[in-house]
Amino acid sequence: MTTLSKLLRQDVVAICHDDGRKVGTPGHDDAREYLRQRISEIGCVPYIGKSFELPYKVAHQGFCNLVGRIPGRDSKLPPLLVGAHYDSVISFPCADDNAAAVAIALHAGRIIGESGGLERDVVVAIFDAEEPPYFQGHAMGSNRFYEDHVLGKREIHAALVMDLVGHDVSLPDAMSEGLPVIDPLTGSIYDSARRDTSNPALRSLLFVTGSESHQELTGVLGAIGQPKGLRVMPTLNSYVGDMSDHGVFRRNGVPYFFLSCGMWEHYHMPTDTPDRLNYDKMSAITHYVIQMITLMGERELAGRTGKEQIHDTLDLESSFMREAFGDLQQLVMRWAGISDVDTRATMSQLVERLLLMGLR
Ligand SMILES: [Zn+2]
Repeated sequence: MTTLSKLLRQDVVAICHDDGRKVGTPGHDDAREYLRQRISEIGCVPYIGKSFELPYKVAHQGFCNLVGRIPGRDSKLPPLLVGAHYDSVISFPCADDNAAAVAIALHAGRIIGESGGLERDVVVAIFDAEEPPYFQGHAMGSNRFYEDHVLGKREIHAALVMDLVGHDVSLPDAMSEGLPVIDPLTGSIYDSARRDTSNPALRSLLFVTGSESHQELTGVLGAIGQPKGLRVMPTLNSYVGDMSDHGVFRRNGVPYFFLSCGMWEHYHMPTDTPDRLNYDKMSAITHYVIQMITLMGERELAGRTGKEQIHDTLDLESSFMREAFGDLQQLVMRWAGISDVDTRATMSQLVERLLLMGLR
């Protein structure tokens, strides 16, 4: 474990109350207090006013976003935003959903601050009330933050949102039955009877949507390439829909990235506990987030209309997918009944099959 992996684990463990962080519970209060301290410790100043807490009320229920910013060299420029929600869906730890992403956002902010900051401010936004019954509703923390504190007040240059970024990707059982696997160490093919669902070739997968939201964003991913310790797979947000807090940015035409390792067997389950996360993968994601944020900040991102735009990203998706699957590429293609992912139709066919199998 790297030093960063250990620091990420410390935050995840501290955020993960045994009784969860559902809105209105003592666990939620504890998490809010812990995060208020942490956001200050990492070098943030309040996003607005004197407090990191941006409370709001909907139907007599109190909520609270926690938002700070790592000052840049020119705070007059529209800031970058890195965001994740801290509430939990059930009264259990919910480590992958979403303590892991919160820890990554905090440490990305800390490392950027320690290196002297960027040209632009980096807003660290820890959102409340992402989970049902608030999901995509008026009380959802990211909606309230954007509509109350951004819209018509301070434009956001670009946003990066994370959800479910703490776990290894493993193949769903239904898929593993039909798909032989190449042992990455020996190169030998072994059949489904012997297959290990935590195949090393797929463990480090990270899905990224949103590169279609601005033509410059494909260049951001392309410039970084496949980062150390990860296999990045860019894909269209429309394949999965708005799974998290990036929705409000997408709808308002803010260039965005959404990062996720997809759903897994512990999704929204009591078994989503800190001991099941891969902190080295989270450490790799933290470094990747810093690279993405830095490059997004350097790009002009001109030509925005305030409404969603969709740019063609097929070449980006195809080339990253080939690299991400590596030796498995041909086998996956055969399994999906296609020869390559060189058209939107074949790409859609493959993604639909993967989604049907639960790899999302
Ligand atoms: Zn959730």
